[in-house]
Parts: sequence; C-alpha cells; structure tokens
Amino acid sequence: MDRLKQLLRRIDQKGYKAYKTIEGRYSFPKYTLSIDHVQGDPFAEPSKVRVIVPREKTALAEEWTNTKIRKIRCEDLLARRVHAELRQGVSRVRGSGKSGIVSIDAPNQKVLERTAVQIGSDSVTVCLSVGLPASGRRILGREAEIIFFEQIPKVIDRAVYGLREEEIRSAVRLADQQQAIRQYLKENGLVAFVANGSILPRESGVSDKPLKKGAVPFQSPPELEIAIPVPGREEPLKGMGIRKGITLIVGGGYHGKSTLLKALEHGVYDHVAGDGREYVITDSGAVKIRAEDGRSVANVDISPLIGTLPHGKETVHFSTENASGSTSQAANMIEMVEAGATVFLIDEDTSATNLLIRDGRMQELVAKRSEPITPFIDKARQLFDDYGISSILVVGGLGDYFEIADCVIKLEEYVPADVTAEAKKIAAAMPSGRKAEGGASFGSIRERIPLPESLNSMKGKKPKVTARGRYVIQYGQTDLLLQALEQLVDDSQTRAIAAALYYMERNGWLSKGKTIRELLDAMEEQWDRAGLGSISTRKGHPGELARPRRLELAAALNRLRTLRCG
Ligand code: ADP
Ligand code: MG
Repeated sequence: MDRLKQLLRRIDQKGYKAYKTIEGRYSFPKYTLSIDHVQGDPFAEPSKVRVIVPREKTALAEEWTNTKIRKIRCEDLLARRVHAELRQGVSRVRGSGKSGIVSIDAPNQKVLERTAVQIGSDSVTVCLSVGLPASGRRILGREAEIIFFEQIPKVIDRAVYGLREEEIRSAVRLADQQQAIRQYLKENGLVAFVANGSILPRESGVSDKPLKKGAVPFQSPPELEIAIPVPGREEPLKGMGIRKGITLIVGGGYHGKSTLLKALEHGVYDHVAGDGREYVITDSGAVKIRAEDGRSVANVDISPLIGTLPHGKETVHFSTENASGSTSQAANMIEMVEAGATVFLIDEDTSATNLLIRDGRMQELVAKRSEPITPFIDKARQLFDDYGISSILVVGGLGDYFEIADCVIKLEEYVPADVTAEAKKIAAAMPSGRKAEGGASFGSIRERIPLPESLNSMKGKKPKVTARGRYVIQYGQTDLLLQALEQLVDDSQTRAIAAALYYMERNGWLSKGKTIRELLDAMEEQWDRAGLGSISTRKGHPGELARPRRLELAAALNRLRTLRCG
C-alpha cells in the first residue's frame, strides 16, 4: 500500500507512460488491490483493476452460494451495490479524457452470469475500470491517490463489507423461486409461465424498465391457469402456463400481442425484483425467429422450407451475401434447430408473410412447382413432432393457423382469454381451402463444419476484435452485425461473444473438424469448467463479460460474413 503511494508520488507530473510502473499487487488494510492493466493514454479504454476481499470478512456464508444460481445471484447483488456506491458516493476527480472514471460493469434488469464480481470459496473479487488521471498527458499522481486511497476503499467498505444478510436472503429467495419455476416447466410439459400480476409493458421502445403508469397487470385466463409451488411462499404462484406444441397469440392491433411475446423472449433470462417480469419464465432454449433481409448465409440446408430457387439455385447448400426476407427467416430457423433451440417465438410483425402462409387462393393461382417456399404453417407441426420444437406465434391476420394450433390466446385490451375452442369451431365452419404442402416430415438438418479460415481476426499486421456497443463486433476486416438478435440483452454479452469467437480462433478450434453444435458444446463446457473469464485476453483480469446463450453465440457465428462451412 505504501509502495503504491510512493510510486504515485514518484511519477506525479511525468508522462502518462510512467503509469505502467504501477501494475502489480498491493496489500490494503481490508483487501488486496491488483492493478492488472494500465491504459496507454488518458483517452484509451480505462485501466483494469481488481479488488480482492477475503470472503470470511463478508456476510456471504457458504449456504448463499451453494448452487451456481445462488452464486450468480450474490455476484449480481454485489455488482449492483458497487455500482450504486460508485454513482452516489464518488465525485470524479478531474483531468483529461477518461481521467477519474471509476466504474463496474453493472447489470441491468436481467441477472446474468458475469465477470464483474466473482465469489470464490475464500475471496470476493470486484473488477473495476479506472481512468488513471492526467492533465493532458501529464500524470496527476495526487488525484490517483484519491482514487486508490479514498474512493475505492470507501466504495468497497460500503458495498461489500456493508452487505447484509437480509439483502442476500431476499435475492437468493427470488433466484430459488425462478429456478423452481424453470424446473417445474421442464417436468410438466410447459414452455412458459406468466404469473398473475406481472407487468409486461416497458417504459419505452428503448428501455427495459417497467411501464410506470397505466400498465394492466397480467391475469391468466382461467382455462390456462396453473399453480406452481415455489420455495419461500406458502401459496403456490398462479399464472398462465403455455404448453409444448403450437400456441397462437391473436387479437386486434395495439392490444398487447407483441408485448406478451417480447416478455416471453426475455423470460429466458431471470429478472431482478421490481422488474415486473420476475415470474415470467420461458424455456431457456426459446429463440425469436424473424426476417432479416440483407444478412449473409453460409451453406445452410434450407430445403425443408425453401426448394430450388429461380435459375436453378439449389437450397441444400444455400449461401448468399444478401438474403431476402423469406430466405433469411428460413435460414434463421434451420440454424437455430442446428444450435439446439427448443421453442420458436415468431411475430407476424417481423416475419416474411410468404414464409408464414400461402393461402388457398394463392395455391390455386401459383402452382406448387413454381413456388419454392413451403410455408411454416405446413411445417410447424412436423417441427414439433420430428425435433420437439414448439412454436409460439403472434398472428393478427392469419386465421389459417387456427387449424394447426394447440392453443389460441386472444388479447383484448391487454387481457388474455383462451379462445382455442372457438377458433377450432371457426376453422371447421369456414375451411381455409388450403392444401397442406409440407410433405411427410420436416426434413433432415445437415450439421455444418466451419472451416478454419472462417475466423480471421487479422487487420493488417495485428489482430483486431472489438465489440462496439451491443450490436456490432468488429472482427478483423469485417463488421459482424447483430441488430436482429432481439434476445441479446447486454453489451457485456456482445463482448463475451467477441471474446469467444477470438478464443476459438486463437486456440485452433476450427481446425479440428468440429460441427457448429460441437463448438457450442465445447464453449459452454469451457465456461462451466474454467469460468466465463477464461476467454478474456487480459492477463489476470477476466474482462467485462456477461454470459450469452449458446443460441446467440451461434447466431453471431452464422452472421460472420467470413464464415465458410464444409
Ligand atoms: P400489438 O402487437 O397487439 O399490436 P403491442 O404489444 O405492440 O400491440 O402493444 C401496443 C401498446 O400497448 C404498446 O405501447 C405497449 O407498451 C402497450 N401495452 C402492452 N401491454 C400493455 C399492458 N398490459 N398494459 C398497458 N399497456 C400495454
Ligand atoms: Mg405487434
């Protein structure tokens, strides 16, 4: 500790590069400080440090972290507390560029496994970014002293040492309950649950926070209501259960269909208390499938949905730099079957109409032999029978789907009703005039093997892999665009995807002839065994990462314009 003080005094007023000398480990009264990486100049990405607190000095008894889910919840809680203290209790010291910034990779409405705080059996590690202060490029050693000897100790004291058992208890209870619901869904043939009283609408199209005024709380239709016993509550939790199979969400425009589907999309993650979606839980393999014209596709067999295209372009090995609405959505479907999805979530609003339906009249006018597309309406049932993949579709205008649905939920002024029987009656009384065109089975999925040249991080003479916000990764010479991944929910997930791709490249994973599915399995295994931070390139420091699902990792790989598959 005194050593750090001396160093800072010695380099005070010197050129910025002299900051490099403070890299290292220092003992403080209440923790160890590790300065892992010092930024090159005041405008560069802030320096990376870790604060390592002895666990026995905190309220984190062993029982609070005895399952992985509990451990993640406690880490999340600490990250939030550190973030709150940094925001409220610290006034930034002055200087040029990023001087004086002290920050943690803070969570949002979701609880994700992340590297910001790591609880081990003996220690609690808090990862911080620190903008080492300078005036121009001249080191401000005194200001740095304030950060290391006043601000960080105070924040750690309050946020980590000040953590109380009651707070842990309530966070862990919610985690246990969410886990119990997930387990219940699995064991009872369900794919989603929306508790009564849930608040689904969000503050705005760009906010993940709950709508504060005028939200109509969710209330299950009586026919679909189930009660799930959860720990820490005497009464079971009641709400709407969505079963495996094919479910439609119907209703007039603006009556809340997309909002319900969005909540289901996000329910693959757990939410924090107060979010309104704490008890909206969706099977973690559920994936949004939408049209995404313009994306690239690398050697996907989309023939189950789209047959030979004009000019004899075959679709068993379909590649393009510029997919259409329907071919992009078909590729999204097949790729997600390949990656191991369990539920497709589809909104008419963001779908290619011709991939969803070809109605009776169109079948008359345009013969099957001159229409390459087999619409999803003729494939959804087979997808379920052959691959066990359920579908939940928002349809406002496509009544032909009544025929294939197991359940139809109608929203009226945000209130759901079970209209399955009525929809079936209507389907019987008013035949669609359609002929099924789907054949006898969904069709086989060809698993692909990415070739080693697919991942090339070199830009000029140096590797360059950077996540820019949530939806862009610069990978070598190409920009990987992820705007269409609606279930990518945190910038740190994007950083983790970038790091994972680069890790695969560095370690030659693509030269072993592994299929995409095997690569995803291996990455998940690596994260489980060695930790999410194991893919970070910062020595010692685990980076600012949050765990993505395998499905988003697959989606990113599939959108790399350099992807080549055998
Ligand atoms: P649809 O897809 O049926 O056209 P949306 O789901 O887009 O409708 O919802 C329309 C509007 O209603 C949105 O602004 C949304 O935030 C709001 N909304 C949705 N559900 C609720 C609710 N339960 N309470 C209040 N407002 C809601
Ligand atoms: Mg809508």
